[in-house]
Amino acid sequence: MELSANNYYSAEANQEYMSVSQYKDFAGTYGKLGCEYGAMEKLAGRWEEKKTTALLVGSYVDSYFEGSLDKFKAENPEIFKKTGDKGLKAEYLKADDIIRRIERDQFFMMCLSGEKQVVMTGELFGAKWKIKIDSYIADKVIVDLKVMSSITKHEYVRDVGYLDFIRYWGYDIQGAIYQEIVRQNTGKRLPFYIAAASKEEETNIEVIHVTDNFLKDAMSMVEAAMPRILQVKSGEVKPDRCENCDCCRSTKVLRNPITILDLVKDI
Ligand SMILES: [Zn+2]
Repeated sequence: MELSANNYYSAEANQEYMSVSQYKDFAGTYGKLGCEYGAMEKLAGRWEEKKTTALLVGSYVDSYFEGSLDKFKAENPEIFKKTGDKGLKAEYLKADDIIRRIERDQFFMMCLSGEKQVVMTGELFGAKWKIKIDSYIADKVIVDLKVMSSITKHEYVRDVGYLDFIRYWGYDIQGAIYQEIVRQNTGKRLPFYIAAASKEEETNIEVIHVTDNFLKDAMSMVEAAMPRILQVKSGEVKPDRCENCDCCRSTKVLRNPITILDLVKDI
């Protein structure tokens, strides 16, 4: 199928193409475990991720810079208060502050000045992939906008130690895939930037160059995970349940009691 902004998120597109978020559904990141069962249920249209406020705030800011905030507001009435002045809820007033802070910074705005929500497709590790770039400055840079609770806070990962938010949430994976798909389309290997703003009381901003050494590491992780993902996605093997995610919780069927030791087995 020919991909466009209109059918990018369709079930049909997700069946035909891999995307970074679909990859993360299957394989996970340090910050969020993957779940093959949940990923397959999503693909089949039997499970949908809940629209969290954090996700909506990110989309609110994205849509502002894309120039589609009015449409976003019309499609997401839950961002408005139901009573009183029926204005925006506090989280979205904060999002407006974040937007104004970003707009005060010339370099940040220059990074966001590219073509918005650019869709490209390519092939990698035996699958077709689709990507959607927040700000694409042809021949120069690929930029993704992130609104985070904090840019500087480190997250602890067992057996790994403290990690920056980029690797914790797998944004290095996103960079690796985006860079490669852009290269396949244009012949150019462009740098990948995360333009980040925080939701802290005083918003912090930073443009982070996720350098190629990190992208290379992330790409090897994807390469190692893809054979299994494709086997599961094609129906060749049964998806594993993580028994941890919302989808697994909602579909679990009890057959026997567990013991106290089962409750502490992950500690
Ligand atoms: Zn699960």
